[in-house]
Amino acid sequence: MSVIRILPEPVANQIAAGEVVDRPGSVAKELLENSLDAGALDVDIDVEGGGKRLIRVVDDGCGMTHDDALLAFERHATSKIRNADDLMGVRTLGFRGEALPSIAAVSRFILETRHASENSGTRLEISGGRLRDVKETAYAAGTSVEVRDLFFNTPARRKFLKSETTELGHIASLVTHYALAHPEKTFRLASLTYEILNVSPAANHRERLYQVMGGQTLDQLIEFGPVDRRMTQLADATTHEEPEPGVATEALAARIYGFVSRPEVQRLNRNQIYFFVNRRLARDRLVLHALGEAYRNILPSGMFPVALIFLELPPSEVDVNVHPAKTEVRFRHSSFVHDLVRDSIRQGLLAARPVPAFPMPRERACGAMERAEDMETRQELAEDAPTPTKSIYKSRARPPNTAEDSFRLIPPAPEPSTAPLPPPSPPASESPSGLMISPSASPPSSPPGEFPSNLQPLGQIEESFIVAANADGLWIIDQHVAHERILFERHLQQRSGARVEGQRLLLPIVTELRPEQQVVFQEIGQELTANGFEAEPFGQRTIAIKTAPADVRAEDAGKLLLEILDGVGADTRRLSLAELRGKIAASVACHAAIKVHTPLDENKMRWLLEALSRAACPMTCPHGRPVVLKYSLKEIQKAFKRI
Ligand code: ADP
Ligand code: MG
Repeated sequence: MSVIRILPEPVANQIAAGEVVDRPGSVAKELLENSLDAGALDVDIDVEGGGKRLIRVVDDGCGMTHDDALLAFERHATSKIRNADDLMGVRTLGFRGEALPSIAAVSRFILETRHASENSGTRLEISGGRLRDVKETAYAAGTSVEVRDLFFNTPARRKFLKSETTELGHIASLVTHYALAHPEKTFRLASLTYEILNVSPAANHRERLYQVMGGQTLDQLIEFGPVDRRMTQLADATTHEEPEPGVATEALAARIYGFVSRPEVQRLNRNQIYFFVNRRLARDRLVLHALGEAYRNILPSGMFPVALIFLELPPSEVDVNVHPAKTEVRFRHSSFVHDLVRDSIRQGLLAARPVPAFPMPRERACGAMERAEDMETRQELAEDAPTPTKSIYKSRARPPNTAEDSFRLIPPAPEPSTAPLPPPSPPASESPSGLMISPSASPPSSPPGEFPSNLQPLGQIEESFIVAANADGLWIIDQHVAHERILFERHLQQRSGARVEGQRLLLPIVTELRPEQQVVFQEIGQELTANGFEAEPFGQRTIAIKTAPADVRAEDAGKLLLEILDGVGADTRRLSLAELRGKIAASVACHAAIKVHTPLDENKMRWLLEALSRAACPMTCPHGRPVVLKYSLKEIQKAFKRI
């Protein structure tokens, strides 16, 4: 008896759905891409319950004839390619013919559509992959797709969905970015309670960016390109692939343009890096790497920029059929693409900043710079410079260090603090410079792994790290993260008691929110209030911050709030209340803490060390970075070969 059987179509579709649609965001993506492929100029999206209850996409595209509307739900039914050869030159966003049957297999689905060639429209109702109803209907040209109760018949999948806020955040981010890629079109996205995005046709990407993100974000971005490049232009570069014989070089012309953030803008993750190939939102490690290279020595490692990169290539240069969700792409000439991304962004960054800000020896850099047309040369120069590991950042704050003063111990300043930060502490020890430690003055050593309360501050290195000692050994404390830890614990403690004290701002700070930030702001509003914020909606895209946590400087309040919203939004897990509070406290602490490159007098150093010794977890900052380095007496003696 045969045990193998062909699965019935609805089951096959449910299985396929697992690959194509894994969450409301991917449904929205497929529907939106279909509308764009249909030539729509106006796309209207409504969402309920984070897309779990409803996603409705209405477009004014070409629509479908009655027969096509029925055909569209067959597996692999597509109007976009005809044969395997067409796969090499896909110009549309879709081509696999899987989305509609897959989505309809796991939802209650209603399609209404009319093609210009027909007088009446078609209405189809499908539930869990089964056709329930087909009828003629009056419908304006275009298409409406309504997806209700996603995964209602696959409870296991439904369980894996994240909170409504997270899912809505994904949809908002997706629609926002398609809106950015298509400035000439109208996009609207609304949930039951409010409108998240509403943009009318814009003249160019810059104007669209302004509509979507607001002027504040735009100010943080540098526009680069368009840069056009053909393979032949790379003939003298050794690292690139040679054009393959028989491939016409004109076919390899590429264009790149977009926006990248100024070096001051630092993100903790890659969530705001968007890359489009032929206006298709794509994920690509190669491009992320190229972007990282472009920012080498500009951003500290572990920090990421904001980027919107638009790459246009002949369709035959891109394989989009790598993954069912079509977000991964493969390039035929990958190193060409890599270098194009790196060079054009690096060029944009350099052009937007005065060259002397780079840590290079002056005569050599300037003389050579004029001759150096290509970016590689500039980069090599930067690498040759004596301080290659210093980021541009540091050198902006301070002039580039010479080799001699790169390790400089600054003894504590004698004058007492005028800043409100440290409460008065006993006067400094007798040693005038604070550089001598008398072992007899030190109480017994602290248990290993604990931060002692008897540290003598000796001075600062780079006005960033406190050097201190006790009988146990030598300690180096990162002043920023140490203060961060102290403020973090204090903030959490205040919050667990009741509300955190807020400080009324002299003038409200008006801040623009991106659509996905608005979603998070609505969701966590109450918790923000309990953490010392008072902020109200102020126009469609802006909020006015009236009160901020007392530790934070007024001018930082806007940035802080945005960082909190991004931090929560980026988290795809459903955050528990405790986790949310932790995130908020960590952000507040980070903004309120003393910065690096800040001179501290002895009182302040003592205060900081003492407060740190009382912290519950003094050894790491709220983000997990180390606060303290210790060189024990034993290690020192060993190093000097005394034991
Ligand atoms: P694909 O997009 O890969 O072709 P889909 O399952 O997403 O596959 O859609 C199947 C077909 O249905 C499309 O090829 C297109 O012809 C038609 N279609 C889907 N959505 C729309 C729409 N919004 N407007 C017009 N035609 C559409
Ligand atoms: Mg499609």
